[in-house]
This record gives sequence, C-alpha cells and structure tokens, in this order.
Amino acid sequence: MDEDCDYLFKLVLIGDSAVGKSNLLSRFALNEFRLDSKPTIGVEFAYRNVVIADKRIKAQIWDTAGQERYRAITSSYYRGALGTLLIYDVTRRGTFENVGRWLEEVRSHGDSDMVVVLVGNKSDLEHAREVQMKEGQNFAEREGLHFIETSALQKTNVEDAFMTMITQIHNLTTRRTL
Ligand code: GDP
Repeated sequence: MDEDCDYLFKLVLIGDSAVGKSNLLSRFALNEFRLDSKPTIGVEFAYRNVVIADKRIKAQIWDTAGQERYRAITSSYYRGALGTLLIYDVTRRGTFENVGRWLEEVRSHGDSDMVVVLVGNKSDLEHAREVQMKEGQNFAEREGLHFIETSALQKTNVEDAFMTMITQIHNLTTRRTL
C-alpha cells in the first residue's frame, strides 16, 4: 500500500466505443476535455486522490482505451476492481441497448459486490437525445444500480458520478473492516 493513502481503489470504465469513457476520465482526473478521439489502443489508467471521512483514498481508474471495439477486454481488466462506471451515450440508442450485455460481462468477471454506477453521458446534446432520462433510471432501478446523467464536455455531474461510486465503495469497505 502507498504511504500517501489509506485505501487504494481500482475502478474501471466500461461501455461501447465513443460513449465518452476517456473524456470522463480525463475530466475527473486531469480536468481536461478532448474533442478528437484517442490515438492509442490499449489499457490506460489515471489516478485521483480524494478524501472521504478523513480517509485518503487513491482512485486508480482504468480506461479500455479502445479495446472494446474488438471485444477484447480481458478478465485482468476487471480483476480486483471495486467499482465500475457503465457508460452509454444518450444520443445513440444502440449504446443503451448494449448496457445489459456490458452488465453481464461486469458481473461474470468482477467481484459479486462490485459497485456499478450507470452513466448516461453527453447530456449537453439535448437536441440529439435518443434515450430519455427515465429509461436510464428505470433500468438502473431494476438492476439495483446507481444512475446519473453526465456531460464530460460541460463538466456536468462528472464529479458526482465518480464520487457516488467511490463513496459507496468506501462505505462497503469500512463496514467490512469494522
Ligand atoms: P470513448 O471511446 O468511450 O473513450 O469516448 P471518447 O471519450 O473518446 O469520446 C468520443 C467522442 O465523444 C469524442 O469526439 C468526444 O469529444 C465526444 N464526447 C465525449 N463526451 C462528451 C460529452 O459529454 N458531450 C459531447 N457533446 N461530446 C462528448
């Protein structure tokens, strides 16, 4: 364990290509947004330190960085992960229709108590919306997930999406060690 933190949480991002995974990560970890699509293929990760209830938590957040295009996400991606943001794009219905398949993959590779937050990204593109907020909410409720809509572009709810996941994991972790 690093000396500069009390907990290290591995978190993963999942969802179809181009839903905004990389931009959500760079917005949260680096406060940056990129309009181009990413040039590299392969797993990448970034860190961000947060403090919850006086505990210093280092969040290590993994991005597929394009692997999902080839359905080539390996079980090592999920290994040891405590939480996942399962992301779709509110302007592309197909990405929402695939959420069930991603959830199955997360549940079959990940730990049974992995915290999953369903994220509808690109909420700034209201004119192009194909998935209503209520549909995301209903799906999340049925599956027992947290739900939030975000815009990595406009920074809306990005902090909330990650912090909901991290806080929930922190609560489960402290309950387990009591
Ligand atoms: P990934 O393949 O899931 O990692 O998706 P990227 O983060 O590379 O984003 C795919 C494309 O969507 C890029 O052109 C981004 O600029 C764009 N994008 C990502 N998030 C948002 C958002 O919140 N709003 C808008 N309007 N575009 C976004």
